[in-house]
Amino acid sequence: MYIISDVFKNISKLPPLLPILYFLLVRTLKLNMELFIISVIALTMQLHRMQLPREVVVGNETLPLLSEICKKLGFCESALVVTGPDTQSIAGRRVIDLLSDKGMDVDVFVVKSSTLWEVRAVEEKIKDLKPQVVLGVGGGTKIDVAKLSSTRQGIAFISVPTTASHDGIASPVAAIKGLKKPYSVMAQSPMAIVADTDIIIRSDYRFTASGCGDLVSKFTSVRDWELAYKVKNEYYGEYAASLALMSARLVTKNADVIKPGAEEGLRLVLEALISCGVAMSIAGSSKPCSGSEHLFSHSLDLVEPNGGLHGEQCGVGTIMIAYLYDIDWKGIKDTLQRAGAPTTAEELGVEPESIVKALVQACTIRPERYTILNTKKLDYASAKKLAKVTSVIS
Ligand SMILES: [Zn+2]
Repeated sequence: MYIISDVFKNISKLPPLLPILYFLLVRTLKLNMELFIISVIALTMQLHRMQLPREVVVGNETLPLLSEICKKLGFCESALVVTGPDTQSIAGRRVIDLLSDKGMDVDVFVVKSSTLWEVRAVEEKIKDLKPQVVLGVGGGTKIDVAKLSSTRQGIAFISVPTTASHDGIASPVAAIKGLKKPYSVMAQSPMAIVADTDIIIRSDYRFTASGCGDLVSKFTSVRDWELAYKVKNEYYGEYAASLALMSARLVTKNADVIKPGAEEGLRLVLEALISCGVAMSIAGSSKPCSGSEHLFSHSLDLVEPNGGLHGEQCGVGTIMIAYLYDIDWKGIKDTLQRAGAPTTAEELGVEPESIVKALVQACTIRPERYTILNTKKLDYASAKKLAKVTSVIS
């Protein structure tokens, strides 16, 4: 009885003629009724898959826990460590030693940039060595390369960040240069995240401030996601949206404790970034954490390569998009200033003209992603006005 009523509930969601046509087809082909009912359920059910990290460890001296975590997850034999030339000495070498000491076969691959070429090179190494797991040890670049190459080769991935610069340390998306698209692509969630604050606190504070920029951007990305739901009837998940927003609110409330050398502030930024990664895993998309302010950041990368870190650009973009949404853009600017993140073109190290160009082109970066830039189209004059009124340019 329950199943039948459920079927009728679901049938009502289908275009009216579809179940009737399907029923006639079943009758004509003399298929059994049970199969018909199951097929209708499958047709109408909206499958939503969530892939979440199983182990998340944040705190001081957490790196030594890595071998125990690997064992718990069933990785006792072999691993491939993807790290960078600098991060190898910061944490990569220690990770290799920790796992080797427990009898694991550990190989290392040093990457310099997050390009498709590097991803393919790591994939070849995976095919050759067949490790049980790939560990990305480093900043965003190394983690993104490890994440995408392991996904493409169908093996697990563990994230060991050495900076707190953006939410890619915990998200299922990867930003790789050389793909057809100048923005992040879906990969897989890390199976574990081990963030050792003793290591991350020694990185340039600029990275942590950049992480704050990526966090405040959720104030506008969630608005864009809501807008896409209202206007385009796209999937929208309130839980994932709330989780992303909570991270932005947390950094706003505690911006004063986020400063160079402060472990408490760093831990807060890391936990908020990880929550954002989880929000994307729950949503099955980057939408809760990446809206028009991220399109501005990707656009700025094309207009002026090397024009600031990802989170720094997103923070500046958020100030301007918040103005378009008529939300508290001054408060967002204040949060960024208190955390020591850039709020102007000058602080970002880009030309004022690049900001205007990036704003105008932002809506062309990812046309399928519906944002406020679709409803409030910016031409050169209105983009310049927006950048000026928010004091991003003078
Ligand atoms: Zn981001």
